[in-house]
Amino acid sequence: MTVTDTPVLVVGGAGYIGSHVTLELIKGGREVVVVDDLSTGRRDLVPAGASFIQGDIGDSELIRRVLAERGCASIMMFAGSIIVSESFQMPLPYWRNNIGAGFAFLDACVKAGVRHFVYSSTAAVYGAPDRLPISEDAALRPISPYGRSKLALEWAVADACSVGDMRFAALRYFNVAGADAQGRSGQVSPVASHLIKIAVEAATGKRPGLSIHGADYPTPDGTCIRDYIHVSDLAEAHVLALGHLERGGESLIANCGYGRGFSVRDVLEAVQRVAGRELAIAIGPRRRGDPPALVADSTLLTRVLGWTPKRNDLDLIIRSALDWEAR
Ligand code: UDP
Repeated sequence: MTVTDTPVLVVGGAGYIGSHVTLELIKGGREVVVVDDLSTGRRDLVPAGASFIQGDIGDSELIRRVLAERGCASIMMFAGSIIVSESFQMPLPYWRNNIGAGFAFLDACVKAGVRHFVYSSTAAVYGAPDRLPISEDAALRPISPYGRSKLALEWAVADACSVGDMRFAALRYFNVAGADAQGRSGQVSPVASHLIKIAVEAATGKRPGLSIHGADYPTPDGTCIRDYIHVSDLAEAHVLALGHLERGGESLIANCGYGRGFSVRDVLEAVQRVAGRELAIAIGPRRRGDPPALVADSTLLTRVLGWTPKRNDLDLIIRSALDWEAR
């Protein structure tokens, strides 16, 4: 039996990104075990073909049992709290979920002899960078409790891998959007906070309109610039990262984005164009914790993993998000 015959444990596999990665793993012939507490994820997003266990990643006994019973050598960790603005209102729950439960999970993995750890990190570890595009060696100066909590666990994972047999890939996501082309998964959130999600909700009549959080930034049109990456391209990056580790590759930290930025106004124009309807858009105040511009330098992902994104097209990303929203 080789390592690729063992199931991959995906924690947070009932969520937006975790479910897309699970689809991709299954497509590649892998067996997948999903653990998710369904606090923000949904049971019906867990892809057919994956086994599902409802539970908390901070429950060390559960994780120990699943890893031992299923013999998993590789894990992917998506579970966590992910909304920058919310992290300012409730910093301690962010530390509890992303660090407390995250650490308990990491510790259980190390004790169980897990060999490959794929961690979902974020561009929020960079804060407001001095230079664009941002490479992985840029200064790490997170400006939100969310970013700090994600970076702290990234460091814990790296430290855990500095001794023993475990290696890791930390993928730092820029702005993830869009949905599976076959409509099997997409973004769900009880309270939407991300721009494209909110805009497609407005475009499908689920909300009256939306507001731009600040139009006085030092950018060409005054609104924030982000690097929007299609969730299925991101999912492929995860499968490549896992394959790299399972073939004996070194631990790595890699940005995930396309290397080009769109402003909030660019995105809203594209949503209106693709949806064929005008949105009610107001200009509001800045939102706490928003850096003016984030654009990835993802050459490492391409060079080391051979990642070749197939969906680098804002209209296509928005079309897929609209199709999902309309379902
Ligand atoms: N944004 C906005 N209106 C909204 C939601 C988001 O203007 O209703 C802006 C937000 O201020 C940021 C950009 O869109 O400049 C991307 O925010 P999002 O929450 O999608 O992702 P983040 O960059 O915070 O991870």
